[in-house]
Amino acid sequence: MTKLEELIIKRIQETGPISISTFMRECLLHPKYGFYTQRDVLGSDGDFITSPEISQMFGEILGLCLAQYWIDLNRPDRFALVELGPGNGTLMLDILRAGSSVNGFIDACKIYLVEASSKLKRQQQKKLSQFNVNWITDDLLLPKIPTFFIANEFFDALPVKQYQRKNDLWYEIQVGLKNAQLSLSMSQLPSNHPELETRFKDCVTGDLVEISDDALRISNLIGQIINNEGGCALIIDYGDWHSLGSTLQAVKSHKFAKIFDRPGEVDLTCHVDFEALARNSGCAYSRLTAQGVFLERLGISDRANLLLKNSRPEYKHSILSAHRRLTHPDEMGTLFKVLGLFSKDQNSPAGLIK
Ligand code: SAH
Repeated sequence: MTKLEELIIKRIQETGPISISTFMRECLLHPKYGFYTQRDVLGSDGDFITSPEISQMFGEILGLCLAQYWIDLNRPDRFALVELGPGNGTLMLDILRAGSSVNGFIDACKIYLVEASSKLKRQQQKKLSQFNVNWITDDLLLPKIPTFFIANEFFDALPVKQYQRKNDLWYEIQVGLKNAQLSLSMSQLPSNHPELETRFKDCVTGDLVEISDDALRISNLIGQIINNEGGCALIIDYGDWHSLGSTLQAVKSHKFAKIFDRPGEVDLTCHVDFEALARNSGCAYSRLTAQGVFLERLGISDRANLLLKNSRPEYKHSILSAHRRLTHPDEMGTLFKVLGLFSKDQNSPAGLIK
């Protein structure tokens, strides 16, 4: 049993069952025993690998997409570039390197990172040491200038609550105890949540829905900033337009695990409900687009061919396999989706369609 599991069990014994969101938050971000705070989670030696860690092509394409949007806004002389959940800082570095090929883009750019883990903050500081970087909280207090947001595999890490429909009521699924072990149970009393009101039409008795209050709050803040100051957001993650059923999953060392296995040592994530993000943002949004399609539209195959032409023979295989992993439907190409948010009087970012 991990130290964190002991703490959670003690808490439930003292005050009763807790929300799944409380359990997730403790497991992921507990200051001493949390997954993101204690482990090197990203990369082949860690627990999972993300698109920017697979290849520089991913960040380069996103960087050029943002630079094009900056040009479309008539090159504002100051704008904020905000990354939510920047991990090792690799994506931001690749975005800035690609963006530096566009005259004036980097000089106009003020960089902001939203990161909950102090361990990862230190890595970001090291990786981005040549730039002036500011860390802010997820309240997103930013200067009033056009703002571009990037979030790759951020929203899936935000805690969710689960609710199950029983006739005209919803009951929360919680984390309680059975024989002194962590176990899921149904709340005694029904729950209210404005989002649940929107789900009566597509759910029947027995259906389960997931709601992330953090995701709703943050997407609403992003939307307000984009509507007021101009700019856009690129949100990339696994999930669907609507989530239905439990998508809570655990991963450790690149393999699926059980959600109550070794709390704090296992990644816990959920599929993203993109419809809820789009609606709560209150701004214009693109069609939800498969990552492979988005990257192909923006020229990832041309970029891969150029890298192949200029690379030493021993690197050619890894370029080809990275291209496949990022775009192929059997790999990350269709599981991962891209949602663009933008102000109502603007076009969608390149590679996406209104
Ligand atoms: N975007 C990166 C890392 C994805 S992992 C990449 O693609 O490689 C998720 C990231 O979100 C990590 O940096 C993690 O520490 C951060 N994170 C998770 N929950 C968070 C929260 N509630 N607030 C801020 N950052 C969070």
